[in-house]
Amino acid sequence: MRTLYVAEYPAIQHRHDDGAIVTVRLKRRAGGFRAVCAGCDTEFVYRRPVPSAIAHHKSPLLPPVKGNWDSGEDDH
Ligand SMILES: [Zn+2]
Repeated sequence: MRTLYVAEYPAIQHRHDDGAIVTVRLKRRAGGFRAVCAGCDTEFVYRRPVPSAIAHHKSPLLPPVKGNWDSGEDDH
């Protein structure tokens, strides 16, 4: 049996080789939420999504303020 880690809860939709979409529901077990699908011999283990450790780019909606400062050195 293979193990698949999922971030969805409580229903896990997946596709079988024959194209059928199968839904299994996670159940609380020791150590977390799990669901076993006998149809594809897969155990789904819920893993809570964690914030990415990768630094994200700042929001493009807030571009850095640039230029147009009065430096006092311009020749007017
Ligand atoms: Zn399955």
